Amino acid sequence: MRQNFLIILFALLGACMGSFLNAVAYRSVRNLKWWGRERSKCFSCGRVLTPLELIPVFSFIFIKIFYKGRCRTCGAKISSRYLIAEVLCALGSALLAYKFYFDLKLLALSLTGFYGAFISALTDYETGDVFDLFALITGALGLAIRFSLGLNFLWDGALGAFTGWAVFALIILITRGGMGWGDAVFMAGMGCVLGFKFILIAIYFGFMLGGLAAIILLILGKVKFGRGDTLPLVPFLAAGCFLTFLFGEYILEFFNFYL
Ligand SMILES: [Zn+2]
Repeated sequence: MRQNFLIILFALLGACMGSFLNAVAYRSVRNLKWWGRERSKCFSCGRVLTPLELIPVFSFIFIKIFYKGRCRTCGAKISSRYLIAEVLCALGSALLAYKFYFDLKLLALSLTGFYGAFISALTDYETGDVFDLFALITGALGLAIRFSLGLNFLWDGALGAFTGWAVFALIILITRGGMGWGDAVFMAGMGCVLGFKFILIAIYFGFMLGGLAAIILLILGKVKFGRGDTLPLVPFLAAGCFLTFLFGEYILEFFNFYL
């Protein structure tokens, strides 16, 4: 009962968060303000959107059916990134509610990490920009929730932050700029949320997913060696963090059993 209620509640809240984070990411990479009284506008003609056009998921489907997916003033096509971001965020939030329904603090901690990872994945995917500000907000919220759980949890978060940062700082120093410092700061923020053991698992998942994607893209001929093609890394690290929220404890159990 409580579990079902929380799943539905956080699916709806997640759709709203997806809409919000998508807008913040969209504006951040274009150096637009995303705080204060800035209103949502059609990106093409600048018409301020009505409340009916701002309902997550519903508005996109409504406009698709009645306006063929176009702005009703200028006819510009509305990008499906809105729908994708809202649906992904709703699904992710619902899954975390399914997993952590029994403890609201753990649920808050995992959602903080998920939303922080989500927005940085969006900006890195679109332009390669990873903003320290989002990692700092995520990290500060993560540490605050951990503080409420107890000093042990706070200490684990601090250690996780250092570990996340240090692993990437080491890679940057060894490869001489193979990755950006934004990636290191991002993982420091996620380390605050995940703690020491889970940030290591998240890094492992992230590199596995990134490597897998690179291999698939090479086979499909979408990228080639030696052409300077780069993959944005944060979306894979973010997916790794999300998988760790869901499955990290099983990986730990596995290791504890065999070592
Ligand atoms: Zn328009």
